[in-house]
Amino acid sequence: MSDDTSIETEATELLRTMIRNACVNDGTPASGGEDRNADALEAYFAGSGLRCERYSAGPGRVSLITRIEGRDPKAPTLLLMGHTDVVPANASGWERDPFGGDVVDGVVWGRGATDMLNITSTMAVATRRLAKSGFTPRGTLIYLAVADEEAGGTYGASYLTRDQFDAVKADYVITESGGVPIPTRSGVVKLPVTVGEKGVNWRRLVVKGTPGHGSMPWRTDNALVTAAEVVRRVSTYQPKARILDEWRRYVHELELAPELEAALTDPDRVLEAVRHLEPLGFSRLAHACTHTTFSPNVVQGGSKINAIPDRIAIEVDVRALPGVSALEVDAMLKEALGDLASQVSIETPRSQEGSRTPLDTPLADAMARVTQALVPGSKIIPRLTGGGTDARYFRWKGVPSYGFALHSQRIPYTEYPLMFHGHNERVDTETLRLSATMWEALCRDFLG
Ligand SMILES: [Zn+2]
Repeated sequence: MSDDTSIETEATELLRTMIRNACVNDGTPASGGEDRNADALEAYFAGSGLRCERYSAGPGRVSLITRIEGRDPKAPTLLLMGHTDVVPANASGWERDPFGGDVVDGVVWGRGATDMLNITSTMAVATRRLAKSGFTPRGTLIYLAVADEEAGGTYGASYLTRDQFDAVKADYVITESGGVPIPTRSGVVKLPVTVGEKGVNWRRLVVKGTPGHGSMPWRTDNALVTAAEVVRRVSTYQPKARILDEWRRYVHELELAPELEAALTDPDRVLEAVRHLEPLGFSRLAHACTHTTFSPNVVQGGSKINAIPDRIAIEVDVRALPGVSALEVDAMLKEALGDLASQVSIETPRSQEGSRTPLDTPLADAMARVTQALVPGSKIIPRLTGGGTDARYFRWKGVPSYGFALHSQRIPYTEYPLMFHGHNERVDTETLRLSATMWEALCRDFLG
């Protein structure tokens, strides 16, 4: 068996095991069961000389850490971080068992195949191979298999960076997501590195009214009727666009038609430009990367069919651009509500700032070198994400943190947004080989 084949087989089998362990995180404290994937990883590392430490913030909510200590305390420490939990899957929408880990024609199917057990497993394969080869780097390598990313990291990255920071302290972090190649007109394959994410700002809009009898609705103050108008206003509200440097560079690297590039990077024209932009996934991304967005997703209220409700709560998922504060979010909501603002109180279930890391660091230089060797003619480019990852906990502490991996071009980049938390999540085994090889080469280059 060639070395390439063995890396691919090893990563594939570890990924299948982790998919089958079904560490499903539905947001409740008793879900997750990440101890199963921690056990699988500890078993996988056995015999390699790596010593594992377990950190638990609740029953079953285990994160696993192993390290290769560096020789030079002044050399940088690199943390490779993968989460071990996955979101629930509704099997009826899938072509294969979401927790079966089937391999069909070189493609692994299952919940977590792209988010992000593919990365968690390939980082583990690289770490084990480095340890077995007797790698004694200048800088320290930390591998972290972290729990609870999918519910915001309360039992994982948030807990570790707050209560166990010595265990995860590093100069750089790499986690999900990125490295899905984008073909361009010039032939250069662009590999996005996630360098920033938006701030998760959840708001509950409590709409007040006056109770009454449903048999006589004329001239009543029905909170649900007001709430309908609140939902309409919030969902159609568009704050002024902001063009971040990362977005400008990303759009430039896509090598679009010059007029489209100009429109997508002009705060006065971008909203019009995304209105009919195709494909739809790119239109949504372009809108999200240039605007603070408001999505009303939950409504609660009303008690009885013959009672006029006096209270309706609307939960709005607000994603603020990096640099937009919680106060600005509330001001935008008030602007959206207009003359209804006095009838609505705003509660704040979650308020987190966005986060950014520059791409001009020694680690990013090493990522560029290593990926160019593996994918000749490729180039890493910065990318923003609308979703949240555990990287934010490290960026908030000033630690440069990237989302990256290295994918083949077998599954087109346009498919990936559909697979995250969607049906038919899958990854090709060539991607597993490329990623594992890249992590190993990156550690040798950067920590060397
Ligand atoms: Zn993820």
